Amino acid sequence: MNKNNYRGRFAPSPTGDLHFGSLVAALISYIQAKTHDGIWLLRIEDIDETRTVAGADQAIIKTLANFGMHADEPVMYQTNPERQAAYQAALDHLTQSGLTYPCVCTRTKLAGSETYPGFCRDQIIDHSQPHSIRLATGNEDYEFDDFWQGHQLQNIAKQSGDFNIKRKDGLFCYMLAVVIDDASQGVTEVVRGIDIMDSTARQMHLIKLLNLPQPSYAHFPIITHNQLKLSKQNHAKAISHEDPYTLTHLALSLMGQEPPLLQQKTQSNLLNWAIENWQPEKLNNLAKINY
Ligand code: GLU
Repeated sequence: MNKNNYRGRFAPSPTGDLHFGSLVAALISYIQAKTHDGIWLLRIEDIDETRTVAGADQAIIKTLANFGMHADEPVMYQTNPERQAAYQAALDHLTQSGLTYPCVCTRTKLAGSETYPGFCRDQIIDHSQPHSIRLATGNEDYEFDDFWQGHQLQNIAKQSGDFNIKRKDGLFCYMLAVVIDDASQGVTEVVRGIDIMDSTARQMHLIKLLNLPQPSYAHFPIITHNQLKLSKQNHAKAISHEDPYTLTHLALSLMGQEPPLLQQKTQSNLLNWAIENWQPEKLNNLAKINY
């Protein structure tokens, strides 16, 4: 691929400010884009409005800016009416192709089943009842060569079976939105944490059905602290008031990059050093990065 065609993205959900784990995710996607002379995009994944924290998007954008990371194009929001129309058009296309069906199953009914048992697949459903929309799937295998994780083979039937693309409460699902948004932003490489890797086959399947361009994938190891994933759920602390240089230096060290102690300790010098000296293969052997 021509170096300059690279387009990468960081896609945080606005459920709180960035914590150390999400800073590392942002840095990895940013450095990986810039080392290819590429474009780095930001998408606020606010599709699940029930989880959105007011003001978190602006806090994330401000923190990223403090750490020297500025999106190269306008920030995309999934709640934007234009995006919602794009999701609806994709859903209509899948429905016209006979690939969707309404599902009235409750959580209680599905408790204990890891994959969807297909209860509603061949039923006539009363559409006035609250229902989600599922994608009818078969026994599809998907293979991809992950930049960090190597060759992967995933099977949709084993992973999820027929999966939801629209929720009972009327919100579109992440799985549908993410592929449409990546295509719309022209993303060539999806860089994200390994904790989302098992959704890749479902996304590749939607990409195929919707005739979208297929990006490549790069799933990096997740950041753990005392064996726990650093996440808002684990009360990882917000980093907005931390010193960007010191924290970035620590993040780069944990990624095996061996950053030097620069004479001029500025964030832009450190980021430039990281871009020029990026050794992504150093992340390869880390099952997880410990913090
Ligand atoms: N919004 C997701 C998250 O914050 C990331 C999804 C993705 O990168 O595909 O975990």
